[in-house]
Amino acid sequence: MIDHSTLLRVAAQQPPVPELGDDCISWALEPSGIFSVKTTYSLLAEPLWSMEEPIWRLVWQWRRPQRIQIFLWLVAHEKLLTNSLRVSRHLAVSGLCDFCSSTVETILHVLRDCPSTRSAWYRLVPMNIRGRFFLEPLKPWLILNPGSRDEKWATLFGVACWLFWGWRNKGLFKQDFVRPRDEVQATRATTHNFEHARDLWSNTTQPRREWRWIQWRRPPPR
Ligand SMILES: [Zn+2]
Repeated sequence: MIDHSTLLRVAAQQPPVPELGDDCISWALEPSGIFSVKTTYSLLAEPLWSMEEPIWRLVWQWRRPQRIQIFLWLVAHEKLLTNSLRVSRHLAVSGLCDFCSSTVETILHVLRDCPSTRSAWYRLVPMNIRGRFFLEPLKPWLILNPGSRDEKWATLFGVACWLFWGWRNKGLFKQDFVRPRDEVQATRATTHNFEHARDLWSNTTQPRREWRWIQWRRPPPR
C-alpha cells in the first residue's frame, strides 16, 4: 500500500511533455543547473556552523599576519592537536598536559591556564579585562580578545597565543630548542615586528598583487 503523502507527491509530478525535449541532469542548488562545489559545501556544512556566529566574523576580520589568522581559525574550530584531542582520536593514551601533568590538556589549558603560559599572561593582559580573561570558556574568550576594540591588544593576543603554542611544540619535539628566557619581552618584540612590517606594507606605493604566468616547458630532446 502507498501512503497518502507519497500519493500526493506522485500526483504532483508533471507528466512528460515531448515538446520540451529530452530529460537532462540538472543541479538543483544552482539556478543554472550546473554543479558547483560551493553549493555542495554549503549544503553539507550548513548544519555544522553558522556564519552569523560572531566568532567567525571576528577571526576573519582579524587582519594581521595570515599564518596567525589561520591559527586562530583552528583554535575557534577546536582543531588544535592537544593531548585531549589526540586521546579522542586514539593517537595518545594520556590526555594530561605534558608540562604540568595536573589536568587534561585542552586548548584553553595550553593557551591560557597551564602554569607555563599563565605567568606570561599576568604580565601581558590589560587590567580592564583581567577578571574575565582568566574565567571565560573558549569561544567567549576568543570574542573578548581578537574582538577587542584595542587594536594593539588584539594583535598582541593573537601573536602570544601563536607563539605559546609554537614554543610548547618545539619544546616537546625539538631537542635543541630553548624557550625564550623572557617570554613577555619576546612576545612584545614579535608583535612589534609584525606591526612594523604591516605599516611598511600599507605605506608602500607598490602594487600589492602581481600576475605571473607559469607554464611547463618541454625538456630539450636528448
Ligand atoms: Zn599544563
